[in-house]
Amino acid sequence: MLFPIDAPWYVYLAMPFVIFGRYFLLCSWLFGLFYLWKQRQWLFRKIQQRFPKRSDYRRELGYSALTALIFGLVVALCLGTPLRAYTTVYTDVSEYGIPYLILSVVLILFLHDSYFYWMHRLMHHPKVYRHVHLVHHKSVNPSPWAAYAFHPLEAVVEAGILPLVLFTLPVHPIAMISFITIMLWFNVYGHLGYELFPAWVYEHPLGRWLNSGVYHNLHHERFHGNYSLYFTCWDRWMGTLRTDSADKVAEVQQNIHQHKAKPCSTPSSAAVADSSPT
Ligand SMILES: [Zn+2]
Ligand SMILES: [Zn+2]
Repeated sequence: MLFPIDAPWYVYLAMPFVIFGRYFLLCSWLFGLFYLWKQRQWLFRKIQQRFPKRSDYRRELGYSALTALIFGLVVALCLGTPLRAYTTVYTDVSEYGIPYLILSVVLILFLHDSYFYWMHRLMHHPKVYRHVHLVHHKSVNPSPWAAYAFHPLEAVVEAGILPLVLFTLPVHPIAMISFITIMLWFNVYGHLGYELFPAWVYEHPLGRWLNSGVYHNLHHERFHGNYSLYFTCWDRWMGTLRTDSADKVAEVQQNIHQHKAKPCSTPSSAAVADSSPT
Protein backbone atom coordinates (compact mmCIF):
# COMPACT_ATOMS: atom_id res chain seq x y z
CA MET A 1 0.00 0.00 0.00
CA LEU A 2 1.60 3.27 -1.12
CA PHE A 3 -0.48 5.62 0.96
CA PRO A 4 -3.00 4.37 3.50
CA ILE A 5 -5.92 6.31 2.05
CA ASP A 6 -8.55 3.77 3.10
CA ALA A 7 -6.84 2.52 6.25
CA PRO A 8 -8.57 2.53 9.67
CA TRP A 9 -7.98 5.66 11.79
CA TYR A 10 -5.42 4.03 14.10
CA VAL A 11 -3.05 3.37 11.18
CA TYR A 12 -2.63 7.15 10.89
CA LEU A 13 -1.20 7.28 14.40
CA ALA A 14 1.98 5.94 12.77
CA MET A 15 2.23 9.03 10.53
CA PRO A 16 4.40 11.13 12.89
CA PHE A 17 6.86 8.24 13.11
CA VAL A 18 6.87 7.71 9.34
CA ILE A 19 7.51 11.42 8.70
CA PHE A 20 10.19 11.65 11.38
CA GLY A 21 11.76 8.38 10.20
CA ARG A 22 12.12 9.65 6.60
CA TYR A 23 13.62 12.93 7.81
CA PHE A 24 15.94 11.16 10.28
CA LEU A 25 17.23 8.62 7.74
CA LEU A 26 17.95 11.25 5.08
CA CYS A 27 19.60 13.68 7.50
CA SER A 28 21.65 10.95 9.23
CA TRP A 29 23.00 9.81 5.90
CA LEU A 30 23.86 13.34 4.72
CA PHE A 31 25.26 14.39 8.10
CA GLY A 32 27.45 11.29 8.22
CA LEU A 33 28.69 11.95 4.71
CA PHE A 34 29.21 15.73 4.74
CA TYR A 35 29.86 16.52 8.42
CA LEU A 36 31.79 13.44 9.55
CA TRP A 37 33.27 11.24 6.83
CA LYS A 38 34.06 13.82 4.10
CA GLN A 39 34.24 16.93 6.26
CA ARG A 40 37.85 17.76 5.34
CA GLN A 41 37.80 16.57 1.72
CA TRP A 42 34.64 18.47 0.81
CA LEU A 43 35.33 21.66 2.75
CA PHE A 44 35.83 23.46 -0.57
CA ARG A 45 32.06 23.06 -1.13
CA LYS A 46 31.10 24.39 2.32
CA ILE A 47 29.15 27.63 2.03
CA GLN A 48 30.29 29.00 5.41
CA GLN A 49 33.81 27.82 6.25
CA ARG A 50 32.96 26.74 9.78
CA PHE A 51 30.67 24.24 11.47
CA PRO A 52 27.85 24.50 14.02
CA LYS A 53 28.29 23.41 17.64
CA ARG A 54 26.97 20.11 18.98
CA SER A 55 24.34 22.04 20.93
CA ASP A 56 23.06 23.46 17.60
CA TYR A 57 22.61 19.97 16.19
CA ARG A 58 20.74 18.87 19.33
CA ARG A 59 18.42 21.90 19.22
CA GLU A 60 17.71 21.40 15.50
CA LEU A 61 16.98 17.71 15.95
CA GLY A 62 14.66 18.34 18.92
CA TYR A 63 12.55 20.94 17.12
CA SER A 64 12.53 18.83 13.96
CA ALA A 65 11.13 15.86 15.88
CA LEU A 66 8.35 18.12 17.17
CA THR A 67 7.65 19.38 13.64
CA ALA A 68 7.46 15.80 12.30
CA LEU A 69 4.94 15.01 15.05
CA ILE A 70 2.81 18.01 14.04
CA PHE A 71 3.02 17.21 10.30
CA GLY A 72 2.01 13.62 11.06
CA LEU A 73 -0.94 14.70 13.18
CA VAL A 74 -2.17 17.06 10.44
CA VAL A 75 -2.06 14.22 7.88
CA ALA A 76 -3.84 11.95 10.39
CA LEU A 77 -6.50 14.62 10.96
CA CYS A 78 -7.13 15.03 7.21
CA LEU A 79 -7.14 11.34 6.27
CA GLY A 80 -7.84 9.38 9.45
CA THR A 81 -11.03 11.13 10.53
CA PRO A 82 -14.46 11.73 8.90
CA LEU A 83 -12.84 14.77 7.22
CA ARG A 84 -11.45 12.26 4.70
CA ALA A 85 -14.82 12.25 2.94
CA TYR A 86 -14.26 15.91 1.96
CA THR A 87 -10.77 15.46 0.50
CA THR A 88 -10.14 15.58 -3.26
CA VAL A 89 -7.92 12.49 -3.20
CA TYR A 90 -8.51 9.96 -5.97
CA THR A 91 -6.98 6.48 -6.19
CA ASP A 92 -7.60 5.42 -9.80
CA VAL A 93 -4.88 6.95 -12.04
CA SER A 94 -7.07 6.52 -15.15
CA GLU A 95 -9.62 8.92 -13.68
CA TYR A 96 -7.46 11.95 -14.64
CA GLY A 97 -4.71 10.23 -16.67
CA ILE A 98 -0.93 10.11 -16.37
CA PRO A 99 -0.27 13.61 -17.86
CA TYR A 100 -2.41 15.14 -15.09
CA LEU A 101 -0.66 12.97 -12.50
CA ILE A 102 2.69 14.54 -13.53
CA LEU A 103 1.19 18.01 -13.92
CA SER A 104 -0.40 17.81 -10.47
CA VAL A 105 3.05 17.37 -8.85
CA VAL A 106 4.31 20.50 -10.67
CA LEU A 107 1.15 22.40 -9.69
CA ILE A 108 1.52 21.41 -6.04
CA LEU A 109 5.16 22.52 -6.04
CA PHE A 110 4.23 25.96 -7.42
CA LEU A 111 1.32 26.23 -4.99
CA HIS A 112 3.59 25.31 -2.10
CA ASP A 113 6.28 27.71 -3.30
CA SER A 114 3.79 30.60 -3.19
CA TYR A 115 2.36 29.46 0.15
CA PHE A 116 5.83 29.16 1.64
CA TYR A 117 7.07 32.52 0.32
CA TRP A 118 4.19 34.53 1.80
CA MET A 119 4.10 32.51 5.01
CA HIS A 120 7.84 33.13 5.36
CA ARG A 121 7.36 36.88 4.80
CA LEU A 122 4.73 36.83 7.56
CA MET A 123 7.15 34.97 9.83
CA HIS A 124 9.61 37.85 9.39
CA HIS A 125 7.11 40.44 10.64
CA PRO A 126 8.84 41.83 13.76
CA LYS A 127 5.94 40.82 16.04
CA VAL A 128 5.93 37.24 14.74
CA TYR A 129 9.65 36.79 14.22
CA ARG A 130 10.72 37.22 17.86
CA HIS A 131 8.16 34.76 19.23
CA VAL A 132 8.02 32.16 16.46
CA HIS A 133 10.47 32.24 13.54
CA LEU A 134 13.52 33.01 15.71
CA VAL A 135 13.74 29.31 16.56
CA HIS A 136 14.56 28.51 12.93
CA HIS A 137 17.01 31.42 12.70
CA LYS A 138 19.02 30.27 15.69
CA SER A 139 20.72 28.18 13.01
CA VAL A 140 22.86 30.99 11.56
CA ASN A 141 25.03 28.33 9.92
CA PRO A 142 22.44 25.59 9.29
CA SER A 143 23.04 21.86 9.10
CA PRO A 144 20.68 19.31 7.48
CA TRP A 145 19.08 18.84 10.92
CA ALA A 146 17.71 22.40 10.64
CA ALA A 147 15.37 21.47 7.77
CA TYR A 148 12.38 20.93 10.11
CA ALA A 149 13.64 22.96 13.08
CA PHE A 150 10.60 25.19 13.58
CA HIS A 151 8.72 26.58 16.54
CA PRO A 152 5.58 24.37 16.99
CA LEU A 153 3.36 27.29 15.93
CA GLU A 154 5.34 27.72 12.72
CA ALA A 155 5.18 23.95 12.16
CA VAL A 156 1.35 24.17 12.30
CA VAL A 157 1.33 26.98 9.72
CA GLU A 158 3.89 25.14 7.55
CA ALA A 159 1.68 22.03 7.67
CA GLY A 160 -1.20 24.13 6.28
CA ILE A 161 -0.06 23.25 2.75
CA LEU A 162 -1.20 19.64 3.34
CA PRO A 163 -4.94 20.34 3.84
CA LEU A 164 -4.72 23.07 1.19
CA VAL A 165 -3.68 20.42 -1.35
CA LEU A 166 -5.75 17.54 0.01
CA PHE A 167 -9.01 19.52 -0.01
CA THR A 168 -8.69 21.54 -3.22
CA LEU A 169 -6.70 19.75 -5.95
CA PRO A 170 -7.55 16.32 -7.33
CA VAL A 171 -4.50 14.51 -6.02
CA HIS A 172 -3.41 10.89 -6.36
CA PRO A 173 -1.41 9.25 -3.53
CA ILE A 174 1.56 8.88 -5.94
CA ALA A 175 1.52 12.66 -6.57
CA MET A 176 1.22 13.36 -2.85
CA ILE A 177 4.14 11.07 -1.97
CA SER A 178 6.23 12.56 -4.80
CA PHE A 179 5.50 16.07 -3.52
CA ILE A 180 6.33 15.20 0.11
CA THR A 181 9.57 13.52 -1.01
CA ILE A 182 10.66 16.47 -3.18
CA MET A 183 9.74 18.86 -0.34
CA LEU A 184 11.87 16.91 2.14
CA TRP A 185 14.88 16.59 -0.17
CA PHE A 186 14.80 20.24 -1.28
CA ASN A 187 14.34 21.46 2.26
CA VAL A 188 17.28 19.39 3.49
CA TYR A 189 19.40 20.53 0.52
CA GLY A 190 18.62 24.17 1.42
CA HIS A 191 20.03 23.59 4.92
CA LEU A 192 22.85 21.21 4.00
CA GLY A 193 25.47 23.96 4.22
CA TYR A 194 27.24 22.70 1.08
CA GLU A 195 26.93 23.83 -2.53
CA LEU A 196 25.88 20.98 -4.83
CA PHE A 197 24.87 22.97 -7.94
CA PRO A 198 27.39 23.37 -10.77
CA ALA A 199 28.05 26.98 -11.87
CA TRP A 200 26.12 26.61 -15.14
CA VAL A 201 22.80 26.16 -13.30
CA TYR A 202 22.94 29.81 -12.17
CA GLU A 203 23.52 31.04 -15.73
CA HIS A 204 20.98 28.80 -17.45
CA PRO A 205 17.75 30.64 -18.47
CA LEU A 206 15.72 28.08 -16.50
CA GLY A 207 18.29 27.33 -13.78
CA ARG A 208 18.31 30.95 -12.59
CA TRP A 209 14.71 30.46 -11.46
CA LEU A 210 15.71 27.57 -9.20
CA ASN A 211 16.39 28.25 -5.55
CA SER A 212 19.72 27.00 -4.23
CA GLY A 213 21.43 26.03 -0.99
CA VAL A 214 23.62 29.13 -1.27
CA TYR A 215 20.59 31.44 -1.43
CA HIS A 216 18.90 29.88 1.60
CA ASN A 217 22.18 29.71 3.52
CA LEU A 218 22.55 33.45 2.94
CA HIS A 219 19.05 33.92 4.36
CA HIS A 220 20.16 32.16 7.56
CA GLU A 221 23.44 34.06 7.75
CA ARG A 222 21.98 37.54 7.10
CA PHE A 223 18.37 37.02 8.34
CA HIS A 224 16.64 38.97 5.52
CA GLY A 225 15.89 38.39 1.82
CA ASN A 226 15.87 35.10 -0.13
CA TYR A 227 12.57 33.90 1.34
CA SER A 228 11.77 31.33 -1.38
CA LEU A 229 11.71 27.55 -1.16
CA TYR A 230 11.94 25.83 -4.59
CA PHE A 231 12.04 28.71 -7.08
CA THR A 232 13.33 32.27 -7.07
CA CYS A 233 10.21 33.65 -8.83
CA TRP A 234 8.62 35.37 -5.84
CA ASP A 235 11.93 36.75 -4.59
CA ARG A 236 12.65 38.18 -8.05
CA TRP A 237 9.13 39.56 -8.56
CA MET A 238 8.98 41.12 -5.07
CA GLY A 239 12.55 42.43 -5.13
CA THR A 240 13.60 40.34 -2.12
CA LEU A 241 16.39 38.36 -3.77
CA ARG A 242 19.45 39.53 -1.84
CA THR A 243 21.73 41.71 -3.94
CA ASP A 244 24.79 39.91 -2.54
CA SER A 245 23.47 36.50 -3.71
CA ALA A 246 25.44 36.60 -6.96
CA ASP A 247 28.64 37.53 -5.09
CA LYS A 248 28.17 34.66 -2.64
CA VAL A 249 27.51 32.20 -5.48
CA ALA A 250 30.64 33.48 -7.27
CA GLU A 251 32.71 33.09 -4.06
CA VAL A 252 31.55 29.50 -3.45
CA GLN A 253 31.91 28.51 -7.11
CA GLN A 254 35.40 30.05 -7.13
CA ASN A 255 36.38 27.80 -4.19
CA ILE A 256 35.08 24.78 -6.09
CA HIS A 257 36.84 25.84 -9.28
CA GLN A 258 40.15 26.41 -7.47
CA HIS A 259 39.91 23.04 -5.76
CA LYS A 260 39.28 21.28 -9.07
CA ALA A 261 42.25 23.08 -10.62
CA LYS A 262 44.44 21.74 -7.78
CA PRO A 263 43.07 18.27 -7.02
CA CYS A 264 45.85 17.55 -4.46
CA SER A 265 45.16 20.66 -2.40
CA THR A 266 43.98 20.23 1.19
CA PRO A 267 41.84 22.66 3.17
CA SER A 268 43.70 25.18 5.29
CA SER A 269 44.54 23.94 8.76
CA ALA A 270 42.87 27.01 10.28
CA ALA A 271 39.57 26.25 8.56
CA VAL A 272 39.62 22.62 9.68
CA ALA A 273 40.63 23.55 13.22
CA ASP A 274 37.60 25.86 13.44
CA SER A 275 35.42 23.12 12.10
CA SER A 276 35.60 20.73 15.05
CA PRO A 277 32.22 20.51 16.78
CA THR A 278 32.36 21.93 20.28
ZN1 LIG B 1 13.42 33.18 7.71
ZN1 LIG C 1 15.79 27.67 6.70
